[in-house]
Amino acid sequence: MFTNKESFKKAFVETLEKKFSNRLEDTSPINCYKTLGSMICTHVSNNWIKTRKKYQQDEEKQVYYFSMEFLMGRLLETNLLNIGTLEIVQEGLQELGLDYEQIVDQEHDAGLGNGGLGRLAACFLDSLASQQFPGHGCGIRYKYGLFEQKIIEGNQVELPDYWLKEDYVWEVRRSNEAVQVRFGGHVDIHENDGKLTFHHKNYEPVLAIPYDVPIVGFNNQTVNSLRLWSAEPVVNDSNIQFANLNNYYKFLDYKRSIESISEFLYPDDSHIEGKKLRLKQQYFLVSAGIQSIIKRYKEKYSTSLNRLHEKISLHINDTHPALIVPELMRILMDDEGFSWEEAWEVTTKTAAYTNHTTLSEALEKWPIEMIQELMPRIFMIIDEINERFCRELWEKYPGEFSRIEELAVIAHGQVRMAHLAIVGSFSVNGVAQLHTDILKSREMKHFYDVFPEKFNNKTNGITHRRWLLKANPNLADRITDAIGNRWIDEPSILTRLTEFASDREFQQQLKHIKYENKRNLANVIYKKTGVKIDEHSIFDVQVKRLHAYKRQLLNVFHIMHLYNRLRENPHLDIVPRTFIFGAKAAPSYYFAKKIIKLINTVANVVNNDPTINNKIKVIFLENYNVSLAEKIIPAADVSEQISTASKEASGTGNMKFMMNGALTLGTLDGANVEIHEHVGDDNIFIFGLSSEEVLNLYSYGGYSARQMYNCNERIKTVLDQLLEGFFGHTDVEFKDIYYQILQNNDEYFVLKDFDSYTKAQEHVDLAYRNENSWYEKAIINIAHSGNFSSDRTIREYAEDIWGIHPVKID
Ligand SMILES: *Cc1c(COP(=O)(O)O)cnc(C)c1O
Repeated sequence: MFTNKESFKKAFVETLEKKFSNRLEDTSPINCYKTLGSMICTHVSNNWIKTRKKYQQDEEKQVYYFSMEFLMGRLLETNLLNIGTLEIVQEGLQELGLDYEQIVDQEHDAGLGNGGLGRLAACFLDSLASQQFPGHGCGIRYKYGLFEQKIIEGNQVELPDYWLKEDYVWEVRRSNEAVQVRFGGHVDIHENDGKLTFHHKNYEPVLAIPYDVPIVGFNNQTVNSLRLWSAEPVVNDSNIQFANLNNYYKFLDYKRSIESISEFLYPDDSHIEGKKLRLKQQYFLVSAGIQSIIKRYKEKYSTSLNRLHEKISLHINDTHPALIVPELMRILMDDEGFSWEEAWEVTTKTAAYTNHTTLSEALEKWPIEMIQELMPRIFMIIDEINERFCRELWEKYPGEFSRIEELAVIAHGQVRMAHLAIVGSFSVNGVAQLHTDILKSREMKHFYDVFPEKFNNKTNGITHRRWLLKANPNLADRITDAIGNRWIDEPSILTRLTEFASDREFQQQLKHIKYENKRNLANVIYKKTGVKIDEHSIFDVQVKRLHAYKRQLLNVFHIMHLYNRLRENPHLDIVPRTFIFGAKAAPSYYFAKKIIKLINTVANVVNNDPTINNKIKVIFLENYNVSLAEKIIPAADVSEQISTASKEASGTGNMKFMMNGALTLGTLDGANVEIHEHVGDDNIFIFGLSSEEVLNLYSYGGYSARQMYNCNERIKTVLDQLLEGFFGHTDVEFKDIYYQILQNNDEYFVLKDFDSYTKAQEHVDLAYRNENSWYEKAIINIAHSGNFSSDRTIREYAEDIWGIHPVKID
């Protein structure tokens, strides 16, 4: 079907005509997309079956990666790439007179995640399958993904993301593998021969239906699964005692409340919303996932579950699925008859946890009453875990009340999910070296003292297949011309490019590729915004979620400052610059939304001021998502990674940019630290406070934003313009930004780092003028980006944490 162009074209036309009773000449792009999708599914199905069979027969250990978010983006093109038919299909469609790009654009992004955390999970799935690891994703099939962002009069407006409007071609509903998840009710305790048994009564049952999405390995036969759970009402079940279902309206109420569990993704990044529905989602995912895993385990192994940990690892991606710990305990004890000690032994050898943040507003805590009401048996187990842990601590630290209180799983009426995850897991990892060091020495120091053996680092990564091969095919081809194609299977080989760093011809080729990508992006920008940008200007990009700690505000303040300088001197000698932003703010995050409005307000003035000779432009691209990222990143010259040091656990955007030959302008935060170590001082622009300095300022004080404002004329001018309506806004529009900085003492040190940021920006400007040297730096960045492939990350997880090995499918 995909072996050559002619057979592809024939099969395509046949499939299209059969599927839609439609002739090729009368068809639509969406039908072409669906045709291609179903052809790929057919092609992949054989290997998918083989993989499932192999895993069911083979006794190799498997990992299940539990995550509330999988930010998958589109799958059509990656699937074509991974099965090795991308070129055949592109050429075949062209010969049929069809527009390939237009067909690809029909696919709605699967936006089942907020940002970095969800995208990491998606990259991990790709790297697991591409390296033949038996590893699967476990998530929720939200009916609505992350909201679609519109910018109206400079403000963010959120629209629902109904991504399932056209059937999702990649999923397979498996009703026969449905399981039941139980909420509410109460627990009856009985004693039999001195042994307690627990019976959950009067619960509300929810049917969990799995939808499987094939995860196709690159250039191999492996097809793993991403299992997404959907909540449905239980019909015709004699167990339902909670409501009189003869009453049709009561049934509809029940149905609606059940379906709300998998209705939508919570749109908050790095901030928790203590909503009951969110907790329900978490338990729904965990309970459905573990039940189905255990069902399969029992079909495969006739032995009891006391060796579960030798065959299975359950991964907890951030604390959201931390209920894995008590849920596995519940199943082992209540369903399988394990004692507490036996169950605890198995559970704590099965679960592994990744910490993603040290931001206090992101640390999950749930009120005792909420857990008790929704999951009475689970609460009893958490309570017992806490009791036993505190008893151990008491032996280790007799009399140290405050230390024990600090470590407890339950305190002040709340369950601390991170503590539950640490106590119940055999591995706790941070996502970049600096982040892990901060966990060990500060945030979780006391836990590190108790369980030093659990803590380890796994620096994040990105799949080079999506972010280089697919997003920047011309660059990928040039790399292959230079060093051969082995880097595709082993990205660390990219270091061979360092030999080409000072090669004039390679520099020029890179320059042309970058220029082509910039032209394409300029077209996208013109179509979306109507603003014409200079394709020869420096493309200076900050795309990521909008958050105070990521300091988009520092970027805007610098733009305002630069604009002021240009107004004073329109002949100011600077390289023309295009500042590009993309960012969604959580709908309830007032301050973040104000920053979006500020960027757009500044853009409107700057872009329409004829006196500055088009030297700078400011673009805000709405609805930043994976597909847009794939267009923006290959066109970037400068990668803005300017978080307040210590706040960004790792970042993965930084890695995507580096791999595409953009130079990082950043603080020594997250994985920027490791990027810096790899490329060296000369190939990155570092500025600002160190994490040590930031943490010390938080601990001991000694910073005054007001003083910065009073003593620094340039800062004062910019801040005053916020209040003066300088950009044509009303004088109250940005007063909250002004006061947030001056009255609340600039929590993220925007003013403190302003001067060093401005200086670093001047260095960027100077460096760009020396073309050869700029592309030399870019090549060195690409050459060292192999270390940040998620293939490397996944191999480390596989070896150090999960203990899984590749399984060949043939
Ligand atoms: C990679 C990615 C992110 C994460 O970016 P950071 O700069 O690491 O915060 C967020 N959103 C999308 C769509 C991405 O592709």
